[in-house]
Amino acid sequence: MTETAELAGNTAIVTGGSRGIGLAIASALAEGGARVAVLGRNGARAEEAAATLAGEGHMGLSCDVADPEAARSAVAAIEEAFGGVGILVNNAGITRDNILLRLKDEDWDEVIDTNLKGTFNMTRAVTRGMMKRRDGVILNVSSVVGLMGNAGQSNYAASKSGLFGLTKSVARELASRGIRCNAIAPGYIATDMTAELDEKQTEALQERIPLGRLGAPEDVAGLVRFLAGPSAGYITGQIITVDGGMVM
Ligand code: NAP
Repeated sequence: MTETAELAGNTAIVTGGSRGIGLAIASALAEGGARVAVLGRNGARAEEAAATLAGEGHMGLSCDVADPEAARSAVAAIEEAFGGVGILVNNAGITRDNILLRLKDEDWDEVIDTNLKGTFNMTRAVTRGMMKRRDGVILNVSSVVGLMGNAGQSNYAASKSGLFGLTKSVARELASRGIRCNAIAPGYIATDMTAELDEKQTEALQERIPLGRLGAPEDVAGLVRFLAGPSAGYITGQIITVDGGMVM
C-alpha cells in the first residue's frame, strides 16, 4: 500500500479483474487502500487474482455479468462481506470480431450482453446501496473503438458507444445522490485481447499512436485509481481517453 492510501476504508468491485486491464485496476485500487472484490466467469482464477493484491480482505468470485441474477447475487454477497460497495469498475468485456456480413446473431448478442448489458446489470445492482450511503463511484471501461468505430468490430464498437450514453445518463440521474459515473476509453493495450495481433498489425498500429507504443494495463489502471478517488470528486459524466494520443 502506498503512503497516500487515498482509498483506505473504501471497497471496490472490479468485473473481469482476473487478468489484463482488470487485474491491473484491481491491483491499483488495492494499492490505494481499497478492499477489492474481483469478478470473472472463472471463479478460481478470480480468487487467485484477489490473493495477489496488496493489503488484506480481498475476495474473488465467479460471476457472469451478462446474467442479471448472477450480478444481483454477487453484489449481495460482496455487500454482506464488505458492508457496502463504494466503487464499481465495469471492466469485463469480450470481442467476437467479424465483418458485418459474416457477423452471426450470437456474435452480436454475446458482445452486447457482456459489454453493455453486463454494465447495466452490475450498475443497477450496486446503485441502491450507494444511494443509501449517498456516496459512490461507477467507472465504465469502454474503448476508443466506441468513439471512432472499427471495421470488423461493429458489435464491439456498438457496445462500447452504448456505454457512453449509459455513463452520461447514470451520471445525470445519480449526481444528486452523491454518485459519480465516468467512462474510460483505452486505446490499444497489450493484453490477451490484443495478443492475436501479428507483428505487422502491431507495427501499423504503432504508427497511428503519437506516443509510438501500445499501452500497458497499468496506464489504464492509474487513471481508474485517480477517477475512483477524492481528487476526482468534481468529475462526472465524462469520457476520458488513455490511448497514447490516438484520438485527439
Ligand atoms: P482480457 O485480457 O480478455 O480480460 C477480460 C476479463 O473479463 C477477464 O478477467 C475475463 O475473465 C472477464 N470476463 C469476460 N467476460 C466476462 C463475463 N461475461 N462476466 C464476467 N467477467 C468476464 O481483456 P482486457 O484486454 O483486459 O480488456 C478489459 C476491458 O478493457 C474490456 O472491457 C475491453 O473491451 C476493454 N478494452 C481493452 C483494450 C485492449 O486493447 N486490450 C482496449 C480498449 C478497451 P473470465 O474469462 O474468467 O470471465
